[in-house]
Amino acid sequence: MTTNDFEGRVAIITGAGRGLGRSYALALAARGAKVVVNDPGSSVDGGASTEDAAGSVVAEIRAAGGEAIADHGSVTDPAAVRSMVDATLDAFGRVDVLINNAGILRDRSFHKVDLDDVLTVLDVHLTGTLRCTHAVWPLMRDQGYGRVLMTSSQNGTYGNFGQAGYATAKAAVLGLMKVLAIEGASKGVHTNTIVPVARSRMTEGTIIGDQTDAESLPPESVTSGVVYLVGEDAPNGVILNAGGGAFSVTELPETRGVFLGRDARPEDVRDHWDEIRAGGYVDVLENGPAQFTKFLGMARDASGRDGT
Ligand code: NAD
Repeated sequence: MTTNDFEGRVAIITGAGRGLGRSYALALAARGAKVVVNDPGSSVDGGASTEDAAGSVVAEIRAAGGEAIADHGSVTDPAAVRSMVDATLDAFGRVDVLINNAGILRDRSFHKVDLDDVLTVLDVHLTGTLRCTHAVWPLMRDQGYGRVLMTSSQNGTYGNFGQAGYATAKAAVLGLMKVLAIEGASKGVHTNTIVPVARSRMTEGTIIGDQTDAESLPPESVTSGVVYLVGEDAPNGVILNAGGGAFSVTELPETRGVFLGRDARPEDVRDHWDEIRAGGYVDVLENGPAQFTKFLGMARDASGRDGT
């Protein structure tokens, strides 16, 4: 089986009624996956809408000869998430792929934002992701196979004006991804993250939507990366950036650093700041404990050198 072959695989995609999620759903169904198209059909800020976005995508998939069911629950509703997973098992018998894609925006600078709006954004992007992933995780572990995808954002990794809640959530899912990549590895469950760049309803009013050539960033140009990340050949624990035909990986590097000794004073840290920051080369760490090991190693090297 290759990444192009999703025959017999079952995929749940949240927020799949439009934009990126719709594109992922169509692509996976075209490659043989049975797809659960989740979407309550919200407005960009998470408000209610009467649009049956999920139903429309299911109709498209079926018209093309694929298999899909619609789910209109919100990822913020625990009972709805449970019933989405139950409906998936009733209809298709298993869950192989979960793409956490649902998203909303409530942008405002931090000194003006209503904290309830921040919490609502966290609820969709972060708690929703945790909730959906927690619901399918035991199924994937028990069957010895699973592919979970988080959706992060460059604004979570690097920051952006007015997006405190959004960036907090999008950075937090990276920590979750790193943990699940470690915990799922021995059970055949791989967890990765996509950082998309695409023209969509969500990016209409942003720097992407404002570009005269925004058409060159269709959601479909992200989809090949996503299909790879949820296929059998998927890597594990990777952050893939994709958009407009370009693909890159984000690592979380840290400088080599310097050993200043256990008695280092704040002034020593200040005086060595350029060295601490620049270091000799950049390390790419596999996990949190790798940093403990690194620092312990530096302390051991130093004690070997100067006998401290
Ligand atoms: P979009 O607005 O077109 O699609 C988001 C979908 O999520 C909508 O169909 C919406 O109804 C659905 N949704 C909202 N709240 C939900 C909930 N509680 N439960 C289930 N579904 C819900 O936006 P998009 O650009 O396709 O965004 C998809 C994902 O990609 C989001 O997580 C977004 O933050 C992320 N993202 C997008 C870009 C980009 O360039 N478009 C960049 C970085 C990250």
